[in-house]
Amino acid sequence: MSVTVRFAPSPTGRLHAGNIRTALLNWMFAQQRGGRLLLRLDDTDRERSTNEFAEGIREDLTWLGLAWDREVKQSDRFAVYDAAVERLKAGGRLYPAYETQDELELKRKRQLARGRPPVYDRAALKLTDADREKLESAGQTPHWRFKLETRDVVWNDLIRGEQHVDAASLSDPVLVRADGTYLYTLPSVVDDIDLGITHVVRGEDHVANTAPQIQLFEALGAEPPAFGHHNLLVGAEGQALSKRERALSIQGLREEGLEPLAVASYAATIGTSDTVAPHPSLQELVVRFSFGKMSRAPARFDVEELRALNARLLHALPFEAVAPALRDMDVGDGEKFWLAVRSNLAVLSDAGAWWRVVKGPLQPVITDAALCDQAAALLPPEPWDDSTWERWAADVKQATGIKGKALFQPLRLALTGREHGPELKLLLPLIGRARAVARLEGKTA
Ligand code: GLU
Repeated sequence: MSVTVRFAPSPTGRLHAGNIRTALLNWMFAQQRGGRLLLRLDDTDRERSTNEFAEGIREDLTWLGLAWDREVKQSDRFAVYDAAVERLKAGGRLYPAYETQDELELKRKRQLARGRPPVYDRAALKLTDADREKLESAGQTPHWRFKLETRDVVWNDLIRGEQHVDAASLSDPVLVRADGTYLYTLPSVVDDIDLGITHVVRGEDHVANTAPQIQLFEALGAEPPAFGHHNLLVGAEGQALSKRERALSIQGLREEGLEPLAVASYAATIGTSDTVAPHPSLQELVVRFSFGKMSRAPARFDVEELRALNARLLHALPFEAVAPALRDMDVGDGEKFWLAVRSNLAVLSDAGAWWRVVKGPLQPVITDAALCDQAAALLPPEPWDDSTWERWAADVKQATGIKGKALFQPLRLALTGREHGPELKLLLPLIGRARAVARLEGKTA
């Protein structure tokens, strides 16, 4: 069977850590099965949905390296939803109800007080034509409820295994509000049917929608797709995500300088039986992916862990992988420079700072002027290579009798202006003799 999945964000905000997992799971599954991924913009809420957010979503997915085969917008499809509504009405599956929010709340309270589940009592089904006319002439417009069949709904969830829901325990869901606007439930099903969606992969927060939606597929004469509901995110200590963490947008992570591959590796491996590790490519993630590896427990999202993973990814990246980005940053000198600095980077843009350390101008820090002067005089002529530093340091040690930290720290501070950094044996040939002499003499170079 050919696979078609969809990622269906609402363009009412930017993508955040939570919904990027849904996007990735859908994308990886489609890739693995040679299937198609659709981007569906759930923009039925005309007030809160904007083109800017839609564009932001496309930008975020593209930055992560996820491509989609087709895009649809729900706001283009109201006529299709209206037609489905008519079919459901004609089939007796959609009925008008007139209770206000307050009345419904009161009913709920009474039911709970009697120890009964707060399920809608279908009072609206008992209204006669005359009752309805009376309500409507008094200015009440109905909302519309989908009449569930009272039976067990069963599906074999791709992640959670076999699920049983007794539809008698559910309220008939409202599909159309009194003002004529749609709740998410119906448009989603109509689209899934029309667009030939074979697998609906989404967060566990939607599990309660699935039984009513399966009945909707059937009421509209369609075979329901397969469903998979993935675990949701919690914070580093297993707590609910703080507002700050929930708001962690992909845009924010990008602006912080994190690698798309680190974000994708992290999002794809937390909450699974795979170890959280940097993967060399998205394709590698695809190969490893399986719904069977997804844990039922919540996935721990810890931005510090993501940052550490980003650093580990950079430390192992070959020069070819970063050459274009380095060029964009005006960082030159190729592979030698990259291999010298990569293990000192938290984010790629740190390479720019090391480039400025190498090429200057830099104000050296002189802590032992006598030592630095002698060291400058002992610098060998160029050409220099990886062995220059060791030979030079041995000469300085012999000439001054200074060794260990007392030797290396003043030289590092003079040459780089910093206490820590990449190995000096790799940096020294990149700094070059002229700049090294000047810096050892305390001059900006
Ligand atoms: N727009 C819905 C959401 O973002 C889509 C849910 C679904 O995948 O069915 O939660």
